[in-house]
Amino acid sequence: MSRNWTGEIMLLGALLFGSVLLGAFFGHLAWFLFLALALFLSRWVWQMVRLEKWLDSRRRQPPEAWGIWGHVFDEYHLLLRRQYKSKKRLARVIREFRESTAAMPDGTLVLDSHFRILWCNEAATRLVGLVARRDLGQVATNLIRNPRFSRYLDEGDFEQAIEIHSPIDDSRTLMLRLVPYGNSQYLLVIRDITRLVRLEAMRRDFVANASHELRSPLTVLAGYLDMLASGRELGPEWDKPIAEMQAQCRRMTNLLNDLLELSHLETDKSDASHEDIVNVQWLLHRICKDAEAADEHNHEITIDVACGCSLRAAEGELHSAMSNLVTNALRYSPNGTTVTVIWRAGHDGTAVFEVVDQGIGIEKKHIPLITQRFYRVDSSHSRKTGGTGLGLAIVKHVLKRHGSELEIESVPGQGSTFRCVFPVSRVVRVG
Ligand code: ADP
Repeated sequence: MSRNWTGEIMLLGALLFGSVLLGAFFGHLAWFLFLALALFLSRWVWQMVRLEKWLDSRRRQPPEAWGIWGHVFDEYHLLLRRQYKSKKRLARVIREFRESTAAMPDGTLVLDSHFRILWCNEAATRLVGLVARRDLGQVATNLIRNPRFSRYLDEGDFEQAIEIHSPIDDSRTLMLRLVPYGNSQYLLVIRDITRLVRLEAMRRDFVANASHELRSPLTVLAGYLDMLASGRELGPEWDKPIAEMQAQCRRMTNLLNDLLELSHLETDKSDASHEDIVNVQWLLHRICKDAEAADEHNHEITIDVACGCSLRAAEGELHSAMSNLVTNALRYSPNGTTVTVIWRAGHDGTAVFEVVDQGIGIEKKHIPLITQRFYRVDSSHSRKTGGTGLGLAIVKHVLKRHGSELEIESVPGQGSTFRCVFPVSRVVRVG
């Protein structure tokens, strides 16, 4: 038992002892006992009144008291001081957080589980035109009115960021990213990427314009070279150089065509059309016939069609992607080997296009890189066989526009499989 309680019990004991003595002396024991207990009780009531008054007055120093009540006052005082200190610390952290986010150039909004705005910084008011006092508590989609943003919140996949035009200035592009945190709360980070988008557009325009401008002089050069090759004005010693110049002209033409195609695919950010229905079986026969006609190395092309379905797709783009994969398979396979082109049904209503070759294969470390522009495992082999280094980059873009991705499996020395899985939304069952 603590010292404070011992004191309290001794006080009660002394009061009772005194009352018994006085009761025995005056002959009213019960009255004196009652008086002693009343005295003890009134001390407790009085201390409780002091405690309440102290708490109400919010004075810093607690009242002086003896025994258990002194202990209660001191402990309470200690507790309040600790609470006060941690409150101050928390307030400082919140103030620092607000000051740092307010100073950030990116807009930041704190949203609750229903996407209502709880807080926003200065940059957010500037970027999307929020007025903090008026708009707090509003649902974010009511203020940032954009179908892409609404879809982004509905779908709930916040791994990727989205790009939209600013609701207050159409010429500005914003990147929005939602970061879930804590107990169903979200941080919406808004970044102004107008400058980046303009630079990217400038780069694309430059490549497209330069390719376009280079095409006309190249056509003239190719024309004169054809004329020289067919005429007999120059001696036989010119046959080889002219043939080489013609080959380089063809390479440059292919390169420009691929650059233009890629820049067209990059410029059009929308999904490829869902309107046109492409008969894939017929398209594959056409691609393989053309590839066989251009093939100089005696390959065999087998078509294995196990799916009668068609695709909602942009036919030109699909043709380009599929023929790129088929010609690559031929170019990177030794003479006389077989290339198999497969069109089959996949899981859950998807459709799969595959090109399987028995070629040189690709080492594992190169696989994630070969869809980058101008990335080649073996540059001299690629150039010798007429490669531009842009084929797989085109394939990747086309597939992305059709909701698909390129999957690559390869064993060096044994062959490769290039696979595209088209989503159900693109597949049309025939009959
Ligand atoms: P390229 O015009 O050089 O073929 P691509 O973008 O079509 O450019 O391909 C990039 C690189 O990927 C090629 O240089 C080649 O190294 C590798 N590659 C593509 N297809 C195949 C294949 N079927 N087998 C082996 N390597 C391949």
